[in-house]
This record gives sequence, structure tokens and C-alpha cells, in this order.
Amino acid sequence: MMTAKEIRDSFKQFFESKQHAIVPSAPMVIKDDPTLMFTNAGMNQWKDIILGTRDPEPRRRADTQKCLRVSGKHNDLEEVGHDTYHHTMFEMLGNWSFGDYFKEGAIDMAWEYLVDVLKLNPEDLYVTVFEGSPEENIPRDDEAAKYWAKHVPADHIINGNKHDNFWEMGDTGPCGPCSEIHVDSRTPEQRAASGKSGRELVNQDDPQVIEIWNIVFMQFNRKADGSLEPLSMNVIDTGMGFERLVRMMQGKHSNYDTDVFQPVIKAEQQITGLKYVTFEEEQEAPITKEQDDINVAMRVCADHLRAVSFSIADGQLPGNAKAGYVIRRILRRAVRYAYTFLGQKEAFLYKLLPTLVEEMGDAFPELKAQQTLIGRVIKEEEDSFLRTLDKGIALLDKAMAEISSNEKGETRKELSGEQAFRLFDTYGFPLDLTELICRENGFTVDEAAFNVEMQKQKERARNAAAVENSDWTELAAGEQQFVGYDYTEYTCHILRYRKVTQKKNEYYELVLDYTPFYGEMGGQVGDRGVLVNEAETVEIIDAKRENNQTVHIVKQLPKDPTAEFMACVDTDQRNASAANHTATHLLDYALKQVLGDHVEQKGSFVSPDTLRFDFSHFEKVSDEQLREVERMVNDMIRQDIHIDEHRDVPFDEAKKLGAIALFGEKYGDKVRVVRFGPSCEFCGGIHATSTGRIGFFKIISESSVAAGIRRIEARTGKECEELMYSIEDTLKAIKAFFNNAKDLQGVIQKYVEEHDSMKKEIESFQAQAVERFAKKFVEKARTINGVTVIAGVLPMAPAAAKDMAFKIRAAVEGSLLCVIGSHEHNKPQLSIMMSDDMVSNHGLNAGQMVREAAKLIQGGGGGQPHFAQAGGKNVDGLSAAIDKVIELAKL
Ligand code: ATP
Ligand code: MG
Repeated sequence: MMTAKEIRDSFKQFFESKQHAIVPSAPMVIKDDPTLMFTNAGMNQWKDIILGTRDPEPRRRADTQKCLRVSGKHNDLEEVGHDTYHHTMFEMLGNWSFGDYFKEGAIDMAWEYLVDVLKLNPEDLYVTVFEGSPEENIPRDDEAAKYWAKHVPADHIINGNKHDNFWEMGDTGPCGPCSEIHVDSRTPEQRAASGKSGRELVNQDDPQVIEIWNIVFMQFNRKADGSLEPLSMNVIDTGMGFERLVRMMQGKHSNYDTDVFQPVIKAEQQITGLKYVTFEEEQEAPITKEQDDINVAMRVCADHLRAVSFSIADGQLPGNAKAGYVIRRILRRAVRYAYTFLGQKEAFLYKLLPTLVEEMGDAFPELKAQQTLIGRVIKEEEDSFLRTLDKGIALLDKAMAEISSNEKGETRKELSGEQAFRLFDTYGFPLDLTELICRENGFTVDEAAFNVEMQKQKERARNAAAVENSDWTELAAGEQQFVGYDYTEYTCHILRYRKVTQKKNEYYELVLDYTPFYGEMGGQVGDRGVLVNEAETVEIIDAKRENNQTVHIVKQLPKDPTAEFMACVDTDQRNASAANHTATHLLDYALKQVLGDHVEQKGSFVSPDTLRFDFSHFEKVSDEQLREVERMVNDMIRQDIHIDEHRDVPFDEAKKLGAIALFGEKYGDKVRVVRFGPSCEFCGGIHATSTGRIGFFKIISESSVAAGIRRIEARTGKECEELMYSIEDTLKAIKAFFNNAKDLQGVIQKYVEEHDSMKKEIESFQAQAVERFAKKFVEKARTINGVTVIAGVLPMAPAAAKDMAFKIRAAVEGSLLCVIGSHEHNKPQLSIMMSDDMVSNHGLNAGQMVREAAKLIQGGGGGQPHFAQAGGKNVDGLSAAIDKVIELAKL
């Protein structure tokens, strides 16, 4: 039996033998495409080639691509774990032809690989072809059917509808018919019991008759008005689910029973002490509902662990927005299942990581290299969600208790949709968990109302995000040339433009034939500037990178878009950004020197005003270390090291130059290397011509962004100058306070010491005063029916009044009733102190008495039976309040 690794290798070998270049997987996390957060298909990384903005050579390529399908167009999240063939993260094996072979070649190769090389049984294979669409005037894909007929009997070729058999990149852009290959993997018993042929079960959601390979024939371009035109270059794009293929090859009936997942599932069993029942075992003896829950939970955890680990390796940490939130939700789903069905009340997933790394670390070195970081991030995220879960469960318990106490004899116990939604929204409690806990307590949940709330939220999100693009208006043919590494001004023409509408905001995007403008990429913000000619000036408010070209954002189109312009970059901003970018490289280098080689860039933001650098490091960077880093960077600035730049270097050669490549970054075949002395990095950004241009470097903060990730924010050049002025001004102002003393520190120190000793003196004066007043009060005491009564009003702090009351109690023998009215800063305070016999023999309670009397000072309070205090608002009521207390004592 072939192992998963052998199957992966055989795919690459087969397509290599068919003259395909074997290329690496692109990162699963996409950083520079606003329309897509995660790679969800093998073709994503070829989008620019398909759109014609990148060189298609080599025209035949193949790879295994890490994909994630948990958001947007492809979202399989809710299926995962419940079925046995959809994953969140999976590997998609793919082969491409960019204007090389088309339908016949693709069909022949797919068949040869599956049947001749892998020896899958052709009787179990079914293929689909597009049935055509009369409304759109697209005929049935007879061509594909004809090529399939070379290999399979007619009753294994099935017509499919637009939904399954017509692929589109988006609302607009490349599209075309596709053919899927399905495998009937039912056991003989299942076939006999169902009485249906495999053909009847294709695309019917049967878990044993599933699609493994989709072959897309891109031949049209869809325009914004919905019409189709022929594509300038036909493209073959194929995608085969690796885990599904392994399952077929290993004769299994569940992806989770293959060697892709079994090692992790074994680890789960070991840690939880629970059993996972495989498909085969289940055939022998049906399983209970409880066991099924355990099975689902183990599949969920095994699957989600991969998705989360690979995302973190690619630089996407769990967070509370966008891609980070998607990852957080996946992780939380796993925690929830482990918590509910596997009895894991403490962090659990991170314990499975070593097994995953052992299994996949060779094929994906990014996983092995960052194991410590991934483990820490997962554990911290688990811990924090488990705390949230506890809090949410407590809230849910309270809500259920309230419902129970409100229901007067009624039996309907239902949690409202709003409450369920609040739990979902604030505590990440999905409906099924809320329902589960409710059910266990005999409650139901108003699901319809929950869905209404959910819908409302989705609508809000959609309205906020809706972007509408018009078609590109082509003014001239051609591709854009970026000249910004060498020029900040350049003569140009507009190649094409389009209008974009976002939340009633309108703007235009322009593509120029030559541009010096740097489009936002790799953390560096885009250039601003103008397009000018004799007739007009158009402001460029931003520049973005899209499909390998710079897109210029303008509020208004030029009056004559076909005219010649001068594209001019705002050089003040550009130079400030460039200095910050170069400083970032020096910072990266210095951090590695000072902290160690584990320092790995995890994020970077560079603008004209500031720079931010995130990196892996497991503890706070000390002040001494920060200072050392600053000194090292400033030293390199003073050396005024000239930029040593290499463009279009083949990737492997760049590695030999010693350039640092980042995990999770997508590099082309040719890269740019930027070196400043010992600092050498892969980088497409704009840099200072020499380090001296940075002027000065100063770190302004160091903090934690997540488990194992630190962030440094720093300033350079003019910003540092401003920073220094503001520090100087503050210092001057402080000096002025102290009469411009020469030895400022000494003077401040003296003031602090004097302040401390004065405070002590005041406290001792106060204590003496309390002593004196207490003595005076005792001397002036009255006696009513054998009870010593002490009463009076004094200016005094509440604490001192309490102190005095206790001193009086200690000084008086026998029965005592003491009432002190005190006031400070115009706030009255009433204190009652009694001897114990007043409570036990006279049945008095100081707490009750103070509450009653405090009404006269417009206040309230309480305390113990023998001592109580109340504060209030009305100082003038103090005497009356004291009389009231004596009256209440009924002496
Ligand atoms: P399905 O209908 O089974 O969800 P699909 O139509 O979404 O598949 P494609 O988008 O055509 O699939 O993707 C190509 C191949 O990738 C599929 O044939 C399948 O083998 C695999 N695949 C798709 N989604 C998943 C998933 N969530 N987990 C594992 N493999 C998948
Ligand atoms: Mg699907």
C-alpha cells in the first residue's frame, strides 16, 4: 500500500515526466490581495498569469497547494468532522497549462495518472461534462465528452449543470466549463443494499461516491454586463483533493482512516482515554450516539489542528478581525468539541502538535521550524477561550435561572433568540453549543429569532464591505512597467481605468504604462503624488498593488485620459517611507544579533511617520537590550552604508547570497535582494540610497502582540527630531517648576522626601487630635438611666471619626451610646458606637439606627450591630441626626 508521502511524490513525478515544472505551494494565507484572505484553490497563485499581467512561462506547472475553505465562496466549515471527506485545510494537487495543452491533453493525462499509474479501477470512475446553457448560448461541452469517450464507456459520462460544471473566477473574469472525476468507493455490501448504480449517486452527497478531481477548461472572459468573450489564452486548471486520493489508494472509506490523520487521532485517543471507531469497525458493530459524538469531535480536532498550525506558520495569528478572526473561529470550534465531547476542560490541541509536526514537518518545513511558536500561540488561545467558555456558561446558567423564576407555573422554558445571539457574538458560543447546554437543562432556544439576529448582522457587514467595480476601460494595450526603483518622475499614459464604488464613495483606479509609484505591498504604504500636464493636475491619493501591477487611486478622472502625463511621486513622503523601510531591515538585523537567531519577522508596517516590526521572541525585551539594538542601528546609520541591490536574481541564487526569506511569503522565480552591509533580505520595497539618510533611529515602544510575538515601534529622521524637541520641552517645563534648578533629579528627590515626611507628621498630629477630642468627649459625657451618652459634631476625616469612636469605647466602662457627627470637605458622616450590652440587653442595632438617622443628612450606610457609619450630603442635618439616634435608643 502506498503511503501518503509516496502518493504525493508520485503525482509530482508523473507531471514532471510530462514536462511540467514542479513548483512550491504558495502560502495558505494571502497578504496582498484585498479580495481573498486564504488560498482556496491551486489556481489562486496563478491569477496574474491567467489575467495576462504576468509572464506565463513555464507554461506547464504542477504542485500541491495548501488550501483553506472556511470563508467566502468556499466554506466547508460546518461539514468538517460531521462528514469524512471535507476538510478546512487540505492539499490540492494540481497541474496547469497556460496556453499549452487544452482539453484533450488534460483529460488524457488525468486518466493515465489515475488508471495506468495509480491503478484505480476504471469501473469505479465517473466523469461529468457541462450540459450547456441555452440562455447564455453556450453549447454542451461535446469536445470534453468526446475525449472522455476515448477512455470510459458512455454510461460513465454524465451531464452536469452550471452549478457543478461551469467554473468562474468571480463575477467577472476568466471562466469556462469543467469536468469532474468522481469515485464510487462503496463497499460490496453498501452497493447491494442501495441497489443504485454509482452513476445515480454522482453529485448526490453520498459520502462514498465523491468527487476527487476537477479539471477546468478556461476559455471565456465574463464582462461586467454578464456577456462572454473568448479568452486570449486557453488555460487548464486542475484540482485534486490529496486526502481523498490517499483514501481511495489505501482502500479506506473515510479520509480520517488514512495515514494522513491516523497518527493524530491515535494521539487524541491516548490523551483523552477515549476510543475512535473507524469505518471498518463501525461496519461490524453500529455505534451509539455518544460514540458518534466522540468520533466527530476527534475528526474536528485532527482537522482543525492542521488548519490553525499551518496558518500560524504562514504568519497569520488568531485575532479579532479579518483573517485572524477566521483562524480564531476554527480554533474555537475545535476547543468547543474537545470540551463538550472529549471532556477536555483544559488546553488540549497544542498537545497534538508534536505528532502533526512529525507527520508533516518534512513536506512542509515551515511547520517544523516554527513548532515552539505555533504551540505557544495555540495554547494561549485555548486557555483564553476556555476562560470565556466558563464565563459564557455561567451567564447561560444565570439566564436559565431567571427564566425559571419568571415562569409562573408555565412549562415553556425557552431562551430568547437575542440572548442566544449575544452569547454567540460576545462569547463565541455557537448556537449548537447553547442549544446543547439548554437541552441538558430542559430548555429550548428560539432558533428563528436567533437566525433573524444573525441575518441582521450579516446585512450590516455586507453593507459595510460592498465594493462595486466597473469593467476596465482600455485606452491602450500593453503591460505596466514599474520604474520606481530608479525614478520618482516619469512620462506616462493611462493604459486603462475603472470606476469603483464603495459605500457611496466613488473613486477611479488607473493603470499607467510606466509608473514610478510604489503600490502598497510588503507592509510599506503606497506612494502619493500627482499626474500633471499643461492642461491639468490630478492628485493620486494612494497606490495599491493588484495582480502584479500598481493601481493608482484618483478621485476624479483627468479630462483627457488619453493625454500624456508626468507621473510625480511626493518625494518628501517617499523618502521618509524609504528611510523607515531601511531602518526596519537594520532593526531586524540588530535584533537577531542581540536576541538570537530565533528572531523571525512576523509583520511589518512602514509609513512616512513610523515603523512597526513584529517578530517572534518569547519574553519581554529588556531596556538594556533595546538600548543595545538602538546603538547598533545608529552605528550602521553613521557608517552610511550604501544600498547593494540585486534585481531579478533567481531564487536559489538569492539564497546563496545569504538573503533571509520569510515563511508565508510568496516569492516569484526571480527575486530582488537588498543588502546594507551585513543585513541582506529578499525585498521589493523602496529603500534609502544609503543608511545615512535615515538620520537617527529611536525605539519608542516594545510590547506583546500575542503569545511569542513582540512588537517594536520606532521613529527615524525628522520624526526623531520632533520627538527630541518634545522631550526637551517637557523637561524644560519641569525645570521651570523647580526654579530651573541645576541638579533637577536631586531637587525632585528632596521634594519627594519632604512630602513623605510631612505626610507622616500630619498623620501623627491627627492621631494626637483624635486622642485629645476623645478624652474631652468622655469628660463631657452625660448619663441617662445608667447609660453613658456621648454626642458631638467635629470637623474630621471619616477614618479619624472611626478611630475616635473605638478610643471612646475603650475608655468608657459600662453601657455606652456614642454618636459622632463629623464632616470633611463639606461631606457629613455619622458614626454610632455602642457597648455590647446595648445590643444584647437593650435590643439595639447600630446598623438600623444609622440607616434611619442618615435620612436627615440625605445619606445612607450600615455596619455591625455595635458599630455603624453613614455618609451623606447635608452637613446641616448632622445635629438633628444625632438627636434622632438618641431618640431611637429610647433610653
Ligand atoms: P465538493 O463538491 O466535494 O465539495 P468541490 O466542488 O467544492 O467539491 P472543487 O472546488 O472542484 O471541489 O475542488 C477540487 C477538488 O478539491 C475536489 O475534487 C476535491 O477532491 C477537493 N476538495 C474540495 N473541497 C475540499 C475539502 N473541503 N476538503 C478536502 N478536499 C476538498
Ligand atoms: Mg465544495
